[in-house]
Formats: sequence, structure tokens, C-alpha cells
Amino acid sequence: MKKEDITKKTVELIRKIFFLDFIKGLRVTLSYSLSRSVTERYPDEEKWVPYRRFRGVHRLWRDEQGRELCVACELCSGICPTDCITVIPMEDDTGRGITDRVPRVWDVDLSRCLFCGYCEDACPTRAVRLGREYEVASEDLQSAILHVDELLVPQPVPESLEGGVLAKSRFIRDNGAIRVAADLNRTWKRKL
Ligand code: SF4
Ligand code: SF4
Repeated sequence: MKKEDITKKTVELIRKIFFLDFIKGLRVTLSYSLSRSVTERYPDEEKWVPYRRFRGVHRLWRDEQGRELCVACELCSGICPTDCITVIPMEDDTGRGITDRVPRVWDVDLSRCLFCGYCEDACPTRAVRLGREYEVASEDLQSAILHVDELLVPQPVPESLEGGVLAKSRFIRDNGAIRVAADLNRTWKRKL
């Protein structure tokens, strides 16, 4: 037997006799049991505000004068890999949009959406942007379809906010249902 093989076998034997691997594993377990818990007490106390790059529920945006940025060009629906956006254009010269072409229908079916962001990338006017809302549970498939009027409501988290913070939960009653919103005046970074 070679000298290196004998040394290797001896080291292995010592490890076994003194349970070195077991102690190593136990040390990892103990270090985690003594470290601070990262459990979020959602929804009673804390709500996660995702980072700016997060891709959540869509929003349709307006310009500073309140005009709709969507020109109903249908590029977003054309590029969508799951075919979950429906855009039907119409003419409107009332100043509703930035041009006289606006969406009569702009629907997104969240039950089929991959949140890939292709629609956002394809949009020439930055009208459609994926927001930071992540609670997309719905009772039936029909309520997973969002329409233009719901999508034009500004998202509660300002685009400039970097995110990646916890916020105090706020409960909002909405047509008999209860929604949990983040109180952006009371936020803190998660301590690890
Ligand atoms: S995020 Fe992707 S899958 Fe969802 S609507 Fe946009 S393009 Fe389609
Ligand atoms: S959201 Fe953008 S890409 Fe989609 S129809 Fe409107 S302008 Fe075109």
C-alpha cells in the first residue's frame, strides 16, 4: 500500500472515531437555531415591498397631464408568448390619450401571464409597466382578467422607491373585501 493511501485512511479513521463530520453538521444547525428569525408576520404586521426591478401586476400609465400613454398599437399583445393581452383600438379626439388612437379594450389575463416583461419591453410609449403588486389570487378565472379601467389606477408604490423593505400592514376594506396595503411611511430593512 502506498504511503499517501495509508495517510488518507488514517485521517478518515480519525474523522470517524471523533465524529468530526457529525460535529461539523451540528455546528451549522446550531448557528442557524441561534441566529435571528426572518419570519414575516404577514398579513397582520408586515408587508414586503419588492425591489423596483420586480415584475408584478401590470399597470397602464398616463403622462404628467393625465393623458393615457397607450396608443393601442398592439405590439404588447403581438409579442406576448402566452397570448394573454387583448387590445382593441378605437379613435378618440377628446384628449383622453396622447394620440387620437386609444384602447377600447386592454385586457390582461393574469392566469396565463408569465410575468416575463416582454410586453413592457415592446411598448413604444412605456404605457404598460409591470408593477410591484404580487397578490394575484382570484376566486375564478374571470376575475383574473384585468381591464383597462383597473389597470389605469396608479400603483400605490411610487416608481422612484427602491423597495426591498418591509412595511407596516394597512387593511383596506374594498367592496366588502379586505385588502392589505403597505404603509410606506413606516418601512424598515430586514435584518438578517
Ligand atoms: S408579462 Fe409576458 S406573459 Fe405576461 S402579459 Fe406581458 S408579455 Fe405576456
Ligand atoms: S401598451 Fe404599449 S405596446 Fe401595448 S398597445 Fe399600448 S402602446 Fe402599444
